[in-house]
Amino acid sequence: MSTPFHALGNHHTIAEINLTTFRKNIKAIKHVLKQGTLIMAVIKTDAYGHGIIPIAQEAVRAGANRIGVTTVEEGVKLRKNGLLLPIHILSSIIPDQASDVVNYNLIAQVSTEDVAKALSTEAERVGKEATVHLKIDTGLHRFGMNPNETLPFCKKYYSLSGLCWEGIYTHFSSADEGEWNTTEQQYRLFMNTVAQLEEAGYTFPIKHVGASTIAIEREDMHLDMVRPGIALFGYHPSLRQEKQIMLEPVMSLKSKLIHLKTLAPNTKVGYGGKYSTTKTEQIGIISIGHGDGYKRGLSNIGKVIVNGKEANIIGTISLDQTLINVTEIPNLTIGDEVILIGKQGEKRISARDIANWLDSNVDEVLASIMVRVLRVYIT
Ligand SMILES: *Cc1c(COP(=O)(O)O)cnc(C)c1O
Repeated sequence: MSTPFHALGNHHTIAEINLTTFRKNIKAIKHVLKQGTLIMAVIKTDAYGHGIIPIAQEAVRAGANRIGVTTVEEGVKLRKNGLLLPIHILSSIIPDQASDVVNYNLIAQVSTEDVAKALSTEAERVGKEATVHLKIDTGLHRFGMNPNETLPFCKKYYSLSGLCWEGIYTHFSSADEGEWNTTEQQYRLFMNTVAQLEEAGYTFPIKHVGASTIAIEREDMHLDMVRPGIALFGYHPSLRQEKQIMLEPVMSLKSKLIHLKTLAPNTKVGYGGKYSTTKTEQIGIISIGHGDGYKRGLSNIGKVIVNGKEANIIGTISLDQTLINVTEIPNLTIGDEVILIGKQGEKRISARDIANWLDSNVDEVLASIMVRVLRVYIT
């Protein structure tokens, strides 16, 4: 679906977020899930740059069962905006955050004694129950408890008052890369740990291990819930998955031509003169720069679309402007729409293209787009 240029209005640059596409992506993911699997929509990092509140609301409408974020602040913001679904904090909290977690009814992960005790104390104090998930480190070595420590830990802390052990989970290190030997080994470690705990009487009703890749590719590891993030926004973690599920990018990034000029041959352009014209060339200036999160690394490398044609970025990207070569694109006018991510005519640029130019990934490209870039929601 394309929006007319006036969506940009007076704004120099917008990120257009298509909520219908977002809903379709969730539906497509639900379609590949094992019957009865819960879906936690992971919308951390301001919904990977798409805007956490509108995306959370749309996730609810699309039938997500739960929401996952990284920080307590994000969880509190969702609650203050009326979100009622269970909200998971996927990063470790520190004991000081226990009161927000309990009072805003957030679900924390527990992988240390300190956090278990702080949540228990706070829950007791306010007469509530803190719902928690035990996090196990099976090889990512970021958060989580060493599997060997889980049984002694449960012996000491499972029955702490005020805690409700609703779930247990892990996060794989190398699923996106398709390293299935490693991933299956991590999965077995998780399952063996859970079995050992359950044998000893420590139960965890909701077991979950999988992000987008597992949701798409490994039904055998769906367990009780999956936690897709980037796939909701239309990007497969790996291109090999494109055959398995149809996903469409949710965000388009659009800017405007704000200046046009003709330069003589052998003219150096931009800071440091990093580009030099080879003939008489026409240069366009667009109103986006690395201050908008359009990375400086795209200097002399990236491409944009204007008038249905590709134009090369030339010279060094500055904080607020980017120069493009429009010599081969006739009939341009100041104010013309320029597509940085999205489609125009037959041409298309995706966040994956930008990630490739930058030797980065899609998550970084999307989440880097600054808040000053207005998010415009269309349905
Ligand atoms: C970010 C994250 C996810 C979502 O990952 P995607 O690869 O974007 O689907 C799931 N679980 C945890 C614990 C995460 O940190």
